Amino acid sequence: MSKKIINEAQKSLDEVLEFYEQQGTPLSYRPKIQYDPKYVCPDGEKTVSIIRLKRNMKRKSIDAMKGMLSGEYLREAYFKFYRAEMSDEEIKAVRTTFMRSLEGSSNNGREALRQIPLRTIILMNPYEELDRGRRNATLVHEVWHLIEEERHVIYEFPMIVEGTAQYAEYIFSGAKPFPIPIEECRNAASVLYGVAAYVVQEAVGKTSNPYRSMLNLEKREEINAKFVSQYASWMMPLVAKEQRRLVTIFRQ
Ligand SMILES: [Zn+2]
Repeated sequence: MSKKIINEAQKSLDEVLEFYEQQGTPLSYRPKIQYDPKYVCPDGEKTVSIIRLKRNMKRKSIDAMKGMLSGEYLREAYFKFYRAEMSDEEIKAVRTTFMRSLEGSSNNGREALRQIPLRTIILMNPYEELDRGRRNATLVHEVWHLIEEERHVIYEFPMIVEGTAQYAEYIFSGAKPFPIPIEECRNAASVLYGVAAYVVQEAVGKTSNPYRSMLNLEKREEINAKFVSQYASWMMPLVAKEQRRLVTIFRQ
């Protein structure tokens, strides 16, 4: 079974590499693929695939998030999202707990990540259930991370890299990310992927080659600025909400 999945994934990878060649954004090497039906990603059981790149992106993303975690920013987010006016003590408590949980998860995450070979796309169980189109789209997403890495643009603005990979996936599938009302986002991932992809679409959707535009550093800066100023703060209470220990602090 695993062999069959891998063989099919290799064919899928041929198509995806060819696709990026046609877009003028080729990857110069062929990434390895592994299929691990028993692997469950620490970030969520529905994860279809993961990839480890050379530097630890998670670490840098966490630093970026920390930077946004000033008391005022957090207070604004709570008010915007929950209409909750938080006292100084409450904000401080959320901030401290959130920081600790970030440190904890990054340590666990780092340990798990170290087991994964570099630049190898690991496919997990839900991959099996996807149709051909969805399987290709999954590889389009992961290979896009590699293309950004190879062109040294990936670590510049770490908050937007899931947005660009997600947008690459959307346009490949012929789907368009519609505006996702931020109020309807119920977890941090939907902001980091879906809403960020929408911001990417706004910036590059009308250009003659959105893939090439996404590699442009000025465009990335523009996307990052918009995402961080308008949407990223919404993630904070959502991330915090996902930390069970913080639930009691919430007032809705
Ligand atoms: Zn990704």
